[in-house]
Amino acid sequence: MPSSAPTLRRITVLSGGVGGARFLQGLLHGLRTGVVPGGSADTVVTVVANTADDWWIHGLKVCPDLDTVMYTLGDGIDVERGWGRRDETWSARTELEAYGVEPTWFGLGDRDIATHLVRTQMLEAGYTLSQVTEALCRRWLTPVHGETVRLLPMTDDRVETHVAVADPDSASGRRVVHFQEYWVRLRAAVPAETVLAVGQDASTPAPGVLEAIGEADLVVLPPSNPVVSVGTILGVPGVRDAVRSTPAPVVGLSPIVGSSHVHGMAAQMLTSIGVEVSAGAVGAHYGARSAGGVLDGWLVDERDAGQLTGLEQAGIRAAAVPLMMSGHDATAAMAAAAVSLVTDGPA
Ligand code: GDP
Ligand code: CA
Repeated sequence: MPSSAPTLRRITVLSGGVGGARFLQGLLHGLRTGVVPGGSADTVVTVVANTADDWWIHGLKVCPDLDTVMYTLGDGIDVERGWGRRDETWSARTELEAYGVEPTWFGLGDRDIATHLVRTQMLEAGYTLSQVTEALCRRWLTPVHGETVRLLPMTDDRVETHVAVADPDSASGRRVVHFQEYWVRLRAAVPAETVLAVGQDASTPAPGVLEAIGEADLVVLPPSNPVVSVGTILGVPGVRDAVRSTPAPVVGLSPIVGSSHVHGMAAQMLTSIGVEVSAGAVGAHYGARSAGGVLDGWLVDERDAGQLTGLEQAGIRAAAVPLMMSGHDATAAMAAAAVSLVTDGPA
């Protein structure tokens, strides 16, 4: 660790599901092993998670991104799939199908259902999503290696991403579906004409979110989906301004490598909002803080090194390093490079 590295007591990460969770795992691994500069025994990592993928299904409130982060960091994730519980069984799904209950395209695993039952019962008893999340995290995020992780929903209000797709059978020629239907049933295989975050304008940040950003030593935008993960978090009124005005440096990592989103659906979402599918274009979309955007620094993959000059010209400090999250060490190295980009040398 360079002796000049500032101590990072509070790191705040705005995360989606699988991409954000994998990054967080690498960040924590890096802090633990000293690969990420500036960590200390009392470093607190606060995760502000997207909740616009949430929905109600079979009477249960399901929060995919919160659960993916919680299970991943709590070592309960199915590593191959990247979401859901390890050693999952699917009896409830089979039974529901036997009753002919729709939708059959969205399966809930038996172990996972326990989480949704606890959440739903607590919500119906009057607890907020933040309180419920804190309660669930008591099982999963108890510090085992010293570092503390706090998981906060971006908002306690109901915000849902909906996607408009072409539908020749409807009178308007289009149909609006919940994000889950777009992703799970349609497999993001049809173009998204519009993406809407329903309820967002009237939402407020969950308790602790603005403080976590304003009082951080470092704010990180992980390689999560820039539209339906980080984009929806930034879109909660007050959050973007908090990121713009925090005294902490803000660094992001590109979810696009070459012209590919690696896993997921970032390409479809970027296309729907008219942003080119490239690391440079996503960085420019977030924008430099010095020009009203949210970034001080932006990491791109080595293959995208040709885009560094344009980013620097736009006022964003940029560097190119390997950005494939192929394992904890590789991801820790990405996190270390992100920290160094915005904490080393003159800003
Ligand atoms: P989701 O909510 O489960 O879709 O997860 P996130 O929004 O947190 O992250 C999804 C995004 O992560 C994908 O759209 C990809 O662009 C990005 N991603 C996934 N794996 C990698 C990787 O190995 N490297 C990089 N740079 N990005 C990745
Ligand atoms: Ca998600």
